[in-house]
Amino acid sequence: MNKIDILGVLVDHVDMAGALARLQGFLNEDTAHAVFTPNSEIIMVAHKDPEFCKTLNSGDLIVADGIGVVYASKILKAPLPERVAGFDLSSKLIESVKDGSRSLYFFGGKPGVAELAIQNLKEQYPDLCVCGFSDGYFDEAKEKQIIEDIKTKKPDILFVCLGAPKQEKWIADHKDELGAKLLLGVGGSLDVWAGTVERAPEKYQKAGLEWFYRLMKQPSRFFRMLSLPKFGLTVLFKGKRVKKGDRV
Ligand code: UDP
Repeated sequence: MNKIDILGVLVDHVDMAGALARLQGFLNEDTAHAVFTPNSEIIMVAHKDPEFCKTLNSGDLIVADGIGVVYASKILKAPLPERVAGFDLSSKLIESVKDGSRSLYFFGGKPGVAELAIQNLKEQYPDLCVCGFSDGYFDEAKEKQIIEDIKTKKPDILFVCLGAPKQEKWIADHKDELGAKLLLGVGGSLDVWAGTVERAPEKYQKAGLEWFYRLMKQPSRFFRMLSLPKFGLTVLFKGKRVKKGDRV
């Protein structure tokens, strides 16, 4: 499988259809697989934190969640085919199992959010098989209960929505003990399924301006987003440009 090195993070060279096909393949295997969906902010965190970078690279599929990552791949002369947003990939995965053929567990978000998300998804897909959920705010004792609950229910698909880098670390620490086949770290997706956070309208997504829409809706993200221009400059000056036959 082709990967491109973006500031140390090895992003898979796949489009949305290819990523979905990989997920279906993982579901047919017996071992647990982790899927991470970094955007440029998260890649900047990994660039400064080698331990987290290792965690991200331990994923079985790493897709480019943000348009900034796609631009970076162009600068590095190995253009990714398209942005594969974690929310879109997860929504397509859910649609592909709407007949109830695979069980789903939703973990993360504020109390009540997972229930709302499940209610909305069940309205859309009445046969969907949801085997469990938990909010994402826990102490040690509650975390043990959550782990036991997941182990008992053995979901085929576990959505872990704790925000980055918490969700990636949690998945890497626990993926082999849970009995889930596919674990996806997909940040704020639960909030969007629940309807508590709005996805940017399509015209913003198509123009590569979803980040701007999120900034308008959640101005508190301003300081986090300062990493975007830094990301661009770091890729430009420090990124490893791909030469022919050079892909990992
Ligand atoms: N969250 C959580 N537990 C925590 C911290 C965050 O469940 O300890 C949830 C939070 O409620 C939100 C999601 O993680 O639903 C992260 O959202 P954000 O938009 O920050 O994530 P991103 O997708 O940008 O990583």
